[in-house]
Amino acid sequence: MGYLELDLTLSDEAKAMQETVKKFAMEVMRPVGIKLDKMDPEAVIAKDSPLWDVIRTSRELGIHKRGIPKAFGGLLEDMDPKAGPLMAEMMGYGDAGLTISLGVSGFPMTFAMMSPEAELQDLVRAYCEDTKGEIIGCWAITEPDHGSDWILGTNPKFDDPRCAPSVRAVLKGDEYIITGQKSAWVSNGTIATHACLHVCLDPSKGMQGGGLAVIPLDLPGIRRGKPLDKIGQRALNQGEIFFDEVKLPKKYMIITDGAMMSAVAKMILTNANGGMGQVFVGLAQAAFDEALKYAKERIQGGVPIFEHKNIKLQLFNMFIKIEAARAFARRMSAYNQAMAPNGSAAHAIASKVLSTNTAFEVANEAISIFGGVGLTKEYLIEKLFRDARAAMIEDGENNALSLSGAEDLI
Ligand SMILES: Cc1cc2nc3c(=O)[nH]c(=O)nc-3n(C[C@H](O)[C@H](O)[C@H](O)COP(=O)(O)OP(=O)(O)OC[C@H]3O[C@@H](n4cnc5c(N)ncnc54)[C@H](O)[C@@H]3O)c2cc1C
Repeated sequence: MGYLELDLTLSDEAKAMQETVKKFAMEVMRPVGIKLDKMDPEAVIAKDSPLWDVIRTSRELGIHKRGIPKAFGGLLEDMDPKAGPLMAEMMGYGDAGLTISLGVSGFPMTFAMMSPEAELQDLVRAYCEDTKGEIIGCWAITEPDHGSDWILGTNPKFDDPRCAPSVRAVLKGDEYIITGQKSAWVSNGTIATHACLHVCLDPSKGMQGGGLAVIPLDLPGIRRGKPLDKIGQRALNQGEIFFDEVKLPKKYMIITDGAMMSAVAKMILTNANGGMGQVFVGLAQAAFDEALKYAKERIQGGVPIFEHKNIKLQLFNMFIKIEAARAFARRMSAYNQAMAPNGSAAHAIASKVLSTNTAFEVANEAISIFGGVGLTKEYLIEKLFRDARAAMIEDGENNALSLSGAEDLI
């Protein structure tokens, strides 16, 4: 049958954007993602790595500025709200790890836009104009001793000083002095030029005493770790960032107020998880398509294995799960875009958990359909399985995230 689009109200503009991104996903992201997956993490970010082709092409297509208002050179007001989820699905279909790298790159810009300071506003304009991938952002939140603590940190119970973040920022005159370490999991951590950096301003208030800065990562005292070697989403660069008495001009600290920080943290959880919900529907669809294609080709018992009832049933159950995750991700996205910045965090988290669990379950079922060859490097399915597994921890381990979402049900 092939993929059937159930939304009959998609505008021509949304369909055109989907087509453009589909070409990018299949002609650039997918083949490069497969190459990067097999490479050493140092080689992934080397000067001659095909990673840079992905970043440059995405910039030339303007994908990086779709969430930024026109006043800064972005495309926000011109975007059909339905185009976002379609593009995210398509990119996740091409390569999920690369999609996350491209998405997280804009994180510091979201907060730079909130500042009245000319330098920060100019940074956003420069990012929009950057077609070479010279400005790359990251979201530096988790720390070696605080992973899920950050995910659950908006909960008032996390005012315990034992939960205080370890990256400290102390105001001295017109500068903050920043010291500490962010985790090896920071996406784009070793290639980013700027970070959206979560810091501790008041350790006596635990997670509630946090602040948020936009920080250029070429300041004296900043050092990076080795690129992380991991089982899934290997195309996604990750690594530690160390801060040793880094002097940051006060104006770069965007949020210092605890109540505002809590509201912003909720907004970040909503946006990040909403995006994940859309991207991993794409990965699930890719795993399904690979399994269906193989089931039509592989002959056992004298017929294509698709003719066997167990395989048909497996494929149909996979199809049900993907369509349910897709419908929910799109519905959640429509609501959260319309209500921004007051979207529903619980729905965004539910969508992330549903889509990433679905992607993993579908990729797992797909491996059964492939039989033994599904475990080999010869077929894409084993990579999709590994990429999906990483997503169940990315942006919050799914159980910890669900605990955070559950707070909103009361
Ligand atoms: C692919 C990927 C991309 C990522 N990108 C980024 C990024 O861009 N920036 C960034 O800063 N970080 C990033 N992360 C880090 C990610 O957010 C953390 O790995 C995640 O939040 C879990 O933290 P942890 O690994 O420290 O595990 P822990 O917090 O040590 O959790 C271990 C286990 O304990 C459980 N647990 C922990 N605390 C509690 C609690 N209070 N109650 C109940 N159960 C609990 C968890 O559910 C989990 O099962 C990324 C991770 C991955 C895998």
